[in-house]
Amino acid sequence: DQLASQIAAGEVVERPASVVKELLENALDAGADRLDIHVEEGGIRRIAVHDNGHGIPKDELPLAVCRHATSKIVTAEDLHRIHTLGFRGEALASISAVSRFELASRTAEEATGWRIASDGATHWTEPAPVAIPVGTRIEVKDLFFNVPARRKFLKAPRTEFGHIDELVRRMALAWPSVQFTLQHNGKTVHQLRPVQDEAGQLRRLEMLLGKGFVEAALAVEFESGPLRLRGWMARPTFNRAQADMQYFYVNGRMVRDKLLVHAVRQAYADTLYHGRQPAYVLFLELPPEQVDVNVHPAKSEVRFAEARWVYDFVRRSLKDAIATPIE
Ligand code: ADP
Ligand code: MG
Repeated sequence: DQLASQIAAGEVVERPASVVKELLENALDAGADRLDIHVEEGGIRRIAVHDNGHGIPKDELPLAVCRHATSKIVTAEDLHRIHTLGFRGEALASISAVSRFELASRTAEEATGWRIASDGATHWTEPAPVAIPVGTRIEVKDLFFNVPARRKFLKAPRTEFGHIDELVRRMALAWPSVQFTLQHNGKTVHQLRPVQDEAGQLRRLEMLLGKGFVEAALAVEFESGPLRLRGWMARPTFNRAQADMQYFYVNGRMVRDKLLVHAVRQAYADTLYHGRQPAYVLFLELPPEQVDVNVHPAKSEVRFAEARWVYDFVRRSLKDAIATPIE
């Protein structure tokens, strides 16, 4: 069973950044608007995430780290209408199977928090009281300490941290009203205040993507029936230093989808911007039953019920945005 857990963990946990992704998604699902992320040695040595979400009641702590235990799916119907980011009930079970793991949490109804811990999920401690504010604190140490074959494939801390940093950028772009702090080896890398308005949005965009992007940004805002596309794309005057500035979100989830990438490219090709590498931050929203996010556990691919309809909408909207005269 221990071996089965470790194999299953391979699906969810590829590297430290995948741990951070799962922990942040859980925190956001719990309604947190404050996320503190501390990592050491690229997350290989330690990852700690504190959130101010609704927390987990003491008697549900053991369940939270059990495989296929999720509090988020109530009926089979829900599987097709997923609003929360997580839904498989695998992440904490998988992560704890391959690390020294500690979960501490406190709900608003409790006078104290409670913590459980394990090394490799073979044996869990009994819940013990711990003084923490309402919310959840998860600590993941020595990732893959018990799976040397996997640990060997981790890259240098600097590289692993690069993946974490990129992940936090992606999340911070999509969740403007959430405060993010990221520290690496005790040094603050990002300190992003929650955003209230358009000006704040642009400030966060500037902090994450640079002044050049913001100065070159065209606002995108289109609606057609239940489809909505909003965000920013850079004018061709923008000469970016960063190689990859292509952020596309579907219902709040960052995706890398061939269909969408192609639609953006074609919108550029349809206009004078032909030949330029697009740079953009775009959010597509559509009814959840129109999109399947259940394609792969890493969840960066999606499948649309009516792909042509979505493709045409994205391509046409961006073409119009580009064609809008620049004042
Ligand atoms: P999933 O997110 O797919 O439900 P996870 O293994 O990621 O599965 O989490 C298991 C359960 O633990 C969640 O359904 C949720 O009830 C609880 N949980 C995990 N992280 C948090 C958190 N940060 N705040 C509140 N509840 C959490
Ligand atoms: Mg989850």
